[in-house]
Amino acid sequence: MIIIDKPQLEKRNDKVILSVDFEIEADRRKLWYSFSNKYEEYLIVEQLDAFVVGLLFLGLKTGHNIKLNAPISARLFYSLNHYLIDAFCLVNPDYKRIKIIPSSLSTSDFNVANTAGTGLSCGIDSFATYFEHKNEVSPYLIEYFTFFNVGSHGDNGGDKARKIFNERFNNVSQFAEKVNREVITVDSNLSEILKMKFQETYNLRTISCALLLQKLFKNYYYSSGTRFDHFAFNNKEIADLDMLVIPNLSTESTSVFVSALKYSRIDRTELISEFPQTYEHLDVCTHPYIEGRDEINCSECYKCQRTMLTLELLGKLEFYEKVFDLDKFRKNKKKYIGWLLSKKKKLTLDRELIRVIKEMNQMDSEIYFYMIKNILYRQKLKLKRIFNS
Ligand SMILES: [Zn+2]
Repeated sequence: MIIIDKPQLEKRNDKVILSVDFEIEADRRKLWYSFSNKYEEYLIVEQLDAFVVGLLFLGLKTGHNIKLNAPISARLFYSLNHYLIDAFCLVNPDYKRIKIIPSSLSTSDFNVANTAGTGLSCGIDSFATYFEHKNEVSPYLIEYFTFFNVGSHGDNGGDKARKIFNERFNNVSQFAEKVNREVITVDSNLSEILKMKFQETYNLRTISCALLLQKLFKNYYYSSGTRFDHFAFNNKEIADLDMLVIPNLSTESTSVFVSALKYSRIDRTELISEFPQTYEHLDVCTHPYIEGRDEINCSECYKCQRTMLTLELLGKLEFYEKVFDLDKFRKNKKKYIGWLLSKKKKLTLDRELIRVIKEMNQMDSEIYFYMIKNILYRQKLKLKRIFNS
């Protein structure tokens, strides 16, 4: 059994720490989230919603039921019992079908600010979310950005992830300033507690933070890489389930949406490239920024190459010369396309890009050469493994 106690709020200089003590297998631990004290009035201390969402994967992984010593949103409790726990168990057979045992259910609406927010990484999806909502009115207009340290800067957290979190924040805050929005940063030890792969757990980690701000957000938009027609139950691929999971994390106070679902990755890239504010801030790189690098992006990792190629196909790459090394891109372009074509397990995003490459007659013998080279290299490795076994 996992037993979660009442939330506690503690003030430390200019920060407020919202935390719970919880017990697992007779071990007492603390899950905490830290905010600027500016947002204290918006933090929900009355309910355990955010903490249950944060610790749910720990329960599913270890098979422990979760007992609550404070109220939970009745709506969230209903969704967990009727949809979410079963959906997670269906997608990952290693998970156990656990129970949430509430002390009481609450139907109160705590929201006071009646506004909307979204996470900002300055990547394609979060920019698409922001610009897709730019003509909305309250409570659907995005008035706040959030920036969370719950795994996207390193699966297991710790000082290394925290350093990357702070470095990436520089770019995020500069963009936010240009569009006149505040950024709410949240640090947490959730990664250190879960010790699970971010790719398999990221959606609940993110929404856990957003649900601490239920008094602020009437609506919260979650940027997912998926489009409506990508919905699927694939083994351990929870991204394809986002459009089922995310809205079911809504409470009486905050509705959570998956944004930009109508757009493919190429559509989103095209959408954001219409806005010059993105030209100096687009950050898609999987390699953290290192001091001395001229551009935010490394221009070598698969995400950088995919984005640069998409921008080039759209005729927009030159606009982004401050954030990418375009010479590096041109040098490696055909090698990258060859690698993309040779991939055994192609993602939906890969297939979409390949279709456009072919439609635009970008194929040539050099690309085929790299494709075949990659395939042969993989075969060689396979044979080596067979002979050595
Ligand atoms: Zn990169």
